[in-house]
Amino acid sequence: MLTKLVQDMLDGDRHSLAKLFTLLETDNDNFLELMSLLHQHTGKAYCIGVTGSPGVGKSTLIDSLLQMIRKQGLKAGVIAVDPSSPFTGGAVLGDRIRMSHHVLDDGVFIRSLASRGAQGGLSRVTGAGVNLLDAYGADIVLVESVGVGQTELDVMNIVDTVVVVMVPEGGDSVQISKAGLIEIADIFVVNKSDRPGAERLAGVIGSEMNLNDETSWWKPSIHLTQANNNQGINHLWQSILDHRRVSEETFNLESRRSKRRILEFSTAVQYFIDSKLRNPDFQDQGFESILSSVEKGDLDPYSAVKKFLSGSNS
Ligand code: GDP
Repeated sequence: MLTKLVQDMLDGDRHSLAKLFTLLETDNDNFLELMSLLHQHTGKAYCIGVTGSPGVGKSTLIDSLLQMIRKQGLKAGVIAVDPSSPFTGGAVLGDRIRMSHHVLDDGVFIRSLASRGAQGGLSRVTGAGVNLLDAYGADIVLVESVGVGQTELDVMNIVDTVVVVMVPEGGDSVQISKAGLIEIADIFVVNKSDRPGAERLAGVIGSEMNLNDETSWWKPSIHLTQANNNQGINHLWQSILDHRRVSEETFNLESRRSKRRILEFSTAVQYFIDSKLRNPDFQDQGFESILSSVEKGDLDPYSAVKKFLSGSNS
């Protein structure tokens, strides 16, 4: 049944894609099998992360970017992991419709991921979602996440280009450096530049960046935009393309993706073990006996890990 669903999705069926997303979100035994089925069909999509506090204009910006992407005849997928995003239904319905010119567009698939209950699993589910959209044939996958808290920042580890969005009221240098956003940004956007203070904030970001200047192959660009008027979006898109090109030429894209594969592996191992621990029906003599020895205190938890990994049951 899973194989059929995957095949239908690969053939372009949106309902199967939606069903597979639901499968990813719910805890189930099929996760590893599904991901390994998908893997051979992935690696083509380019993934862009858009992060920033609620209300800075991420969804509006994504909506404008989607218009550019679609004009070029590219297919796109959007994963919104921001609980306050209009895409995820945080806003009133009217707002949600206004936000997306693309709800009826066949070349765009928008999906929100509920962050509740996915503790620590948010990056896993998001990463899996990116792979799913990649396999579906999306050329570009946009991931929207709120840039607060470690979990949300972690989500940005799985993307190829990180766009950090701020607003003129976005604060002084202390607030900016504290948020941990300087380190992860490939591109900065000061949105709502129709408001006073946009140039000033761009200057503050620029000087913070110089203090943090660690990479020589790419210097993050800073863009002033008005997402609700489509202003500055052309330049922003150009800068994303530049970052992609330079990442490819300098092999930094490859090294980012290698790191991502390792991250996927380690989160999958964690998921595998967690799900075994939670599943009362799990039948694996070796694992069961190790677990019960740990429970009784006959075997210390750390030797148990070594024993489990070495595959020895004795
Ligand atoms: P998100 O929570 O970061 O996704 O923010 P939204 O995209 O939902 O935008 C929040 C509000 O800001 C909406 O009412 C937008 O219409 C508005 N907005 C977006 N971009 C701009 C802009 O450039 N200037 C102004 N003044 N408002 C904007």
